[in-house]
Amino acid sequence: MSNGILVFIEHRDGALNRTSLEAVAAAQSLAAQMDQPVTAVIAGADVSALAQEIAAYDLAKVIQAKNEKLAQYTPDGYTDAIESVVRQLDPQLVVFPHTYLVRDFAPKLAARFEKALISDCIRAQAAGTTLRFTRRIFLGKLDADVVSDGAAPVFATFQSGSYRPDQARKGSAPIEEMQVEVANIRMTPEAPFQEVKQAVDLSKADIIVAVGRGIKSKDNLALAEKLAEALGGDLAASRPICDAEWLPIDRQIGSSGQTVAPKLYIALGISGAIQHLVGMKNSGTIVAINKDPEAPIFDIADYGIVGDLFEAVPVLTEEIKKIKGAA
Ligand SMILES: Cc1cc2nc3c(=O)[nH]c(=O)nc-3n(C[C@H](O)[C@H](O)[C@H](O)COP(=O)(O)OP(=O)(O)OC[C@H]3O[C@@H](n4cnc5c(N)ncnc54)[C@H](O)[C@@H]3O)c2cc1C
Repeated sequence: MSNGILVFIEHRDGALNRTSLEAVAAAQSLAAQMDQPVTAVIAGADVSALAQEIAAYDLAKVIQAKNEKLAQYTPDGYTDAIESVVRQLDPQLVVFPHTYLVRDFAPKLAARFEKALISDCIRAQAAGTTLRFTRRIFLGKLDADVVSDGAAPVFATFQSGSYRPDQARKGSAPIEEMQVEVANIRMTPEAPFQEVKQAVDLSKADIIVAVGRGIKSKDNLALAEKLAEALGGDLAASRPICDAEWLPIDRQIGSSGQTVAPKLYIALGISGAIQHLVGMKNSGTIVAINKDPEAPIFDIADYGIVGDLFEAVPVLTEEIKKIKGAA
């Protein structure tokens, strides 16, 4: 009989990756439905300070999986370490945040148990021992429910923004040290991936006009700039626009960009992928212009225009100028 849920806590040199708290919230929510305990695991050479931090959550236990070879992240090292913990604990479910690091090693870990990794989940529900995960597919057009067949453990990752870090229940948990075996490490780690450095601070903007792939080309950005100018707002973008270098990366909104909460957020040709929504969903009023009526951005928009932004934006800009001119 398998026991409980194991949740993986990610860190860099002992500094918590806050998406891990979302994974804790996901694990706690499932644990309540399954009537099972949640154990957290942190891998590293010396992670005692972080273990103390995590022990302040409502968990059955915090395990420090220790080995000198875990001082720096490598997929070989982490796979060995977490495999060892999973074999000793025999959990029913192992929950991870859906991060770059997890995507690097978790499929390999799952394969060691001859399992698939149920990745990128946005929700999960338990009915007895059956776990039902929801994944967003076809660029957010459909939600697919996935039920894991077969014996435990089940391995699942949760997209950032699916659960809120402040939903993770506080408590007090004992800390346990576990020396784990790590075999041969075949890679030499390079400098870790750097998140966006913020030269422009959009978090204080009152009005943001954000463009997505619907804008089609860099030249068309002028259309959005005129609207932003008429409103006295700032220009921002979804990730593909910054990846294409049409706008600098410090204009990117979302899980790997800035988190903003302006009074007004206008999304032009943005589909509303969860990684974008997580960066702007707390905006006061959200207006979306998108030609696809099924685009997920409309789920959170207060006002929406289903139509072509190339027709709607110039009209909107002119009307705003008139109103401002009359004021
Ligand atoms: C780990 C990870 C981190 C990520 N981080 C971020 C992040 O921080 N920020 C972010 O934004 N994304 C992020 N993404 C990417 C995210 O998953 C989506 O791919 C991205 O947000 C989609 O951008 P988009 O809405 O501009 O493009 P698309 O999804 O291609 O949507 C374009 C939209 O424009 C509409 N459209 C097309 N033509 C017109 C027109 N003429 N008029 C009106 N509407 C039109 C379409 O109907 C469509 O809905 C991340 C992904 C991963 C895996």
